[in-house]
Amino acid sequence: MDHKPYHPDSIAAQGMGWIDDATRAVIPPLHVSTTYLRDEDNQYRSGRVYARADNPAFDQPEAVINALEGGHQTLLFSSGMAAATAAFQALRPGDHVLAPQVMYWSLRNWLTTFATDWGLQVELIDMTSPAAVQAALRPGQTRLVWIETPANPLWTVTDIADTAVRCHAAGALLAVDSTVATPVLTRPLALGADLVMHAATKYLNGHSDLIAGALVTREDSPYWQRVRKVRAQLGGTLGSFEAWLLLRGMRTLPLRVRAASASALRIAEHFHGHPQIAEVLYPGLVSCQGHAVSQRQMVGGFGGMLSLRVKAGAAVAGSSGEQAAIAVAARTRLWKRATSLGGTESLIEHRASIEGPGTPVPNDLLRLSVGLEQVDDLIADLTSALTLA
Ligand SMILES: *Cc1c(COP(=O)(O)O)cnc(C)c1O
Repeated sequence: MDHKPYHPDSIAAQGMGWIDDATRAVIPPLHVSTTYLRDEDNQYRSGRVYARADNPAFDQPEAVINALEGGHQTLLFSSGMAAATAAFQALRPGDHVLAPQVMYWSLRNWLTTFATDWGLQVELIDMTSPAAVQAALRPGQTRLVWIETPANPLWTVTDIADTAVRCHAAGALLAVDSTVATPVLTRPLALGADLVMHAATKYLNGHSDLIAGALVTREDSPYWQRVRKVRAQLGGTLGSFEAWLLLRGMRTLPLRVRAASASALRIAEHFHGHPQIAEVLYPGLVSCQGHAVSQRQMVGGFGGMLSLRVKAGAAVAGSSGEQAAIAVAARTRLWKRATSLGGTESLIEHRASIEGPGTPVPNDLLRLSVGLEQVDDLIADLTSALTLA
């Protein structure tokens, strides 16, 4: 199907609308071959040699993500971290990169340890401040600026269009971890970004049953060719079954994301000003840092992720904020106490416990991933967990 005339929802629902030539199947076969036949004259006209680099199982899910993001090309990886680290591994020792102080914890940790040991000059800055971005950019030296918006787990928002203009003026590429916004709500390439990364583990797949990542580029470049080599040579390649499941999951992506966003907004508004809640962090609330920018760059919702800061004395008499937050997570029944996000089941997590020492996250904070349960059930479960035992 020529995807141009169709709405992204139609592209997702039909997984591009491709039909298998050999069988006329509307759902693709599962390709598991690791190797491909060479032509008699010693050529590889199929374009495929060996499945670490090329796999027909990737064609359709990569094409769907690429169409939804409006990219030039998309690559699947074995995890979100494999995708994100590939974007940095394609740089060279001595290159200067900027990343946010508030961001997905494992990537922040890798950047400040491993990537730094290997010679990248990594600077963590306040990405919500255009002045801080401007001051940190080193024209001709800064190669890549990494942003995450809304950013884990405070859901602070970075202005993609404004950051892109500043990056390009300094000769740097702008990469966006758009895992939480998804292409349903934000299209970073259309706003000027050069690269989009997804932990496809989360909303794109949407069923908490596989680990996968993706990078989308706005254009081909020597840098992008190095990214391709990182995947092919370092081998952070997705498995065929995971690629097949991911395609299935993406068919319902727009419906899931809009439903989770609507429920998250309801929950945020309900607990804003609640006597046991010190603060609700959600870009959909007018009181939150990123509301104005989100209204411009997020279309159709503010996402399914929010955080609650629990007041001392909630749930358990005499508790500190930290104790109260941990007790609330312990007392929910419908919300499942687990890390990760973007599945159909709602998850609750005391974030400082999993990030450990050095985390910028307040210790009274609970991160919520809103799933597809009935929203009144979710609110009632949280309300009873917050109430004194
Ligand atoms: C989960 C996540 C990642 C890492 O993805 P994995 O598939 O777990 O490696 C990166 N960024 C964000 C925002 C995430 O939520």
